[in-house]
Amino acid sequence: MNIFLYVIIFIIGTVFGSFYTLAVYRIPQNIDIVKKHSYCPNCNSKLGFFELIPVLSYILLGGKCKHCKQKIRIRYLLLEVLGGVSFVVLAIALKINISTLTLRSLITYVFAILYFTALVLIAGIDKEHIKIDKRVLAYGIIISILYMIYLYTIDSASIYRYAIYLAIYIILLSVDTFLLRRFAKDSYTTNILMLLNIILIFTEEKMLFATIIMALASILIYVLIRKLEQIKVGSIKLKINEIPTGFFVCASNIILIFVMTVIRNI
Ligand SMILES: [Zn+2]
Repeated sequence: MNIFLYVIIFIIGTVFGSFYTLAVYRIPQNIDIVKKHSYCPNCNSKLGFFELIPVLSYILLGGKCKHCKQKIRIRYLLLEVLGGVSFVVLAIALKINISTLTLRSLITYVFAILYFTALVLIAGIDKEHIKIDKRVLAYGIIISILYMIYLYTIDSASIYRYAIYLAIYIILLSVDTFLLRRFAKDSYTTNILMLLNIILIFTEEKMLFATIIMALASILIYVLIRKLEQIKVGSIKLKINEIPTGFFVCASNIILIFVMTVIRNI
């Protein structure tokens, strides 16, 4: 019976995977992510209901637009499948099981999806634009506060821990609003710190620590590769504000969650 549950979760994941691609493209351009109909980027024709079904529509249409026959990049299909796989992994991580399914495990799973969504959107936009989108960050902060309220209803003993997390938000938001804006400074660093606090709330200290180490290591490798490329072509230097730090942080956290899930379930 569990296999049916995982198939359903996989399908839901592919829908989200498709949504993430769209959202990462639209949010920085201020295009509505819900109301505006999906369209072909080549011929601008609106996509019909069947063309919106993830994975299946790609296979049935042979990877081409129904109207203009323009090839749809395989990347979209892969991202949809990845969305499906991720949702299944998250379900396994939280031991979502049809026979032991409780309201509590279901709520935790919904929070896991909301959290995963925040990470993917922050990572995707940062990778393309080297920018932590304020609206996505605000969404992440709000769900992390809701998650703390939910945890408090289960275990009120951790109230001091939650108070510290909240205090970190208040300090960072104050620095961002009163200091940085006043001097028109870039708030990329405070945004990264807020992102780390979101990660801390959802995955706790050890995971945050591992995430930071892994992110720093990947940034180092990334910088080295970019430097080597630049030496080859002799182009201009890589600047610190050209490194998508948020992308590396989010990707590291997602990979670590997935690796831990695989290790625990072997
Ligand atoms: Zn088209």
